[in-house]
Amino acid sequence: MNIQILGAHNCESQNTKLLSLLIDDSLVLDAGGLTSSLSLPAQQKLKAILLTHQHYDHIRDIPAIGMNLYLSGASINIYSISPVYDVLATQLLDVKFYPNFLERPQGNPTLKFTVIEPHKTEQIEGYSVLAVPVNHSVPAIGYQVTSPDGKVVFYTGDTGPGLADCWKQVSPQLLVIEVTASDRFRQFGRESGHLTPSLLKEELVVFRGLKSYLPQVVTVHMSPGLEEEIKAEIAAVAKDLNSPISVGYEGMQLHL
Ligand SMILES: [Zn+2]
Ligand SMILES: [Zn+2]
Repeated sequence: MNIQILGAHNCESQNTKLLSLLIDDSLVLDAGGLTSSLSLPAQQKLKAILLTHQHYDHIRDIPAIGMNLYLSGASINIYSISPVYDVLATQLLDVKFYPNFLERPQGNPTLKFTVIEPHKTEQIEGYSVLAVPVNHSVPAIGYQVTSPDGKVVFYTGDTGPGLADCWKQVSPQLLVIEVTASDRFRQFGRESGHLTPSLLKEELVVFRGLKSYLPQVVTVHMSPGLEEEIKAEIAAVAKDLNSPISVGYEGMQLHL
């Protein structure tokens, strides 16, 4: 399994992109900085997009990829929970705002949306995909993706603390997890459903207690202005836990 981080941040700028991960050039997790990261031929090769929740920084490029694929006569499957469908259908892809590629072309729409049920393993393009609820300010799921050769990644999307129930359901080799802010924003994290390095540490301690191991960890969704603080605090957490934790970046390649 080859995982490429297309967008690793919660803010867009010249050198930071919104959340998006690419697995084996075919499966996409969240569609923040998606279209600006891939050539048109690479976009046409994509098989499916899995969305974690309805926030703009995770769904922003859905209208853009809809137009690109529509004009090339291609289509793509999109999977998520029903609140995400509602936001796409009534806001980003409402015909007043942009063409509704969930219904267009009629009979064979460019964006084929399937509602995914948490806790139920689905076969998607040869991968086993398990959606697991996480703790955010809106309904949100993380995805465990298992490749045909048994490699396992879990991507949380946006989440705050309290992941014990989630950990019981997943056994990843690689954990891609959000860390939005540095530790002076711990209270903000708790209130808004995000993690800081010390909150991540608490969740990893719970994981290790339940599973007797720690996976390789890569953080995403960093706030660019806090990144230096986050990096220093993450390094201290990795040292305390005696386990590798990397801060993700645009273009980072991970191999399992
Ligand atoms: Zn969010
Ligand atoms: Zn976000």
